[in-house]
Amino acid sequence: MSVQNLTLLGATGSIGSSTLDVVARHPERFRVHALTAHRRIDELAELCRRFRPDRAVVADADSAIRLRTLLAAEHPACVVDHGAAALCEVASAPEVDTVMAAIVGGAGLAPGLAAARAGKRILLANKEALVMAGDLMLDAVARSGGLLLPVDSEHNAIFQCLPLDAHARADTSRVRRLVLTASGGPFRTASLDRMRAATPDQACAHPNWSMGRKISVDSATLMNKGLEVIEARWLFGVTAERIGVVVHPQSVVHSMVEYIDGSVLAQMGQPDMRTPIASALAWPARIDAGVKPLDLTAVGTLTFEPPDFVRFPCLQLAFDALAAGPWASIALNAANEIAVERFLAGRLGFLAIADAIRATLDALAGSAADSIDAIFELDARARRVSADFIDRQPRAAAC
Ligand code: NAD
Ligand code: MG
Repeated sequence: MSVQNLTLLGATGSIGSSTLDVVARHPERFRVHALTAHRRIDELAELCRRFRPDRAVVADADSAIRLRTLLAAEHPACVVDHGAAALCEVASAPEVDTVMAAIVGGAGLAPGLAAARAGKRILLANKEALVMAGDLMLDAVARSGGLLLPVDSEHNAIFQCLPLDAHARADTSRVRRLVLTASGGPFRTASLDRMRAATPDQACAHPNWSMGRKISVDSATLMNKGLEVIEARWLFGVTAERIGVVVHPQSVVHSMVEYIDGSVLAQMGQPDMRTPIASALAWPARIDAGVKPLDLTAVGTLTFEPPDFVRFPCLQLAFDALAAGPWASIALNAANEIAVERFLAGRLGFLAIADAIRATLDALAGSAADSIDAIFELDARARRVSADFIDRQPRAAAC
């Protein structure tokens, strides 16, 4: 067994820390080449002291100076860089085997694509990269001979239930439907009035999973499931009609594959991201993830219900965007990122997140998205349209 040289994009995040927890259990398998973080420099310094990467990347020059100072005594050999180009460099460096793509949002696309073009083994948590540029990402992986392994728990579950070739490509020819499970989030049973008044802390209080704040809000609006439907379309090459969503509040069944003979295969486990992370890190082998065993007798009951598209319009918006074409997924994702950011800053009401996305889709209908430059341009335009829409909302209605 050869040691995998690993770049971890987004090391200070929720997926980043779960990844390092698994990596630390298997020093004979993994070596950390690079760690990256945006702004939490003290935390990154601590991780660099512990995991001793060759390189670290941060957002800007000031943060780089600070990190170098913090590492001067204990890990001076670490080369510290900053900026988007440096992220792409550590994602594609020749000495790197594996890239964990765990940056949140569209900022993860460029380094993800760099890793794909360089033929890396990519462990993909950053679903937004596929939502924005699924076609380009898959094409780059195929041309370079790389591997794309899903970390998102639903997609990792489906991946585990599908027949795969040596390049981790799934055969879905005998599949009737992929069924993504959704916990329903903190507002699964909430009234519209309660949702209208929801605060950022309430929206981030997920019943089963502990995650970063952006994905937590996405889980509360069900936009997370919408993004995952688009992610599944690209990862597994199935059309939207063959992707279903079912609400499963216990988060034990992580997703299912329904075959044409009526068989339904499900992957189950604790709601702990270390399981899909370990599965992707070691694929096709299995390694200990530090996750406590699933005791179904303690869980007792597993329940399933259909999603409510009225209280959770973001899920419908995502299905509509997938049907409308790649431009719509890009606009949806960008508008959502801005709306969630404003919601978290207390400047937009929870239910108005969907309004900002709808307005952006209406304004940008049919935009070009046929190259990576066009994608980034459309992403930037959609962010501006969403922000303008939010700024025009009367303060009382917005919050
Ligand atoms: P997080 O907010 O906890 O961490 C995000 C990481 O990205 C941090 O290390 C941060 O420094 C870095 N980052 C943020 N903005 C950046 C920028 N502009 N440039 C470079 N780096 C930047 O997020 P998370 O919950 O770990 O989620 C990361 C990704 O994984 C998201 O795409 C999310 O949808 C996906 N994901 C997360 C979970 C989960 O359980 N947390 C589950 C499935 C998928
Ligand atoms: Mg998920």
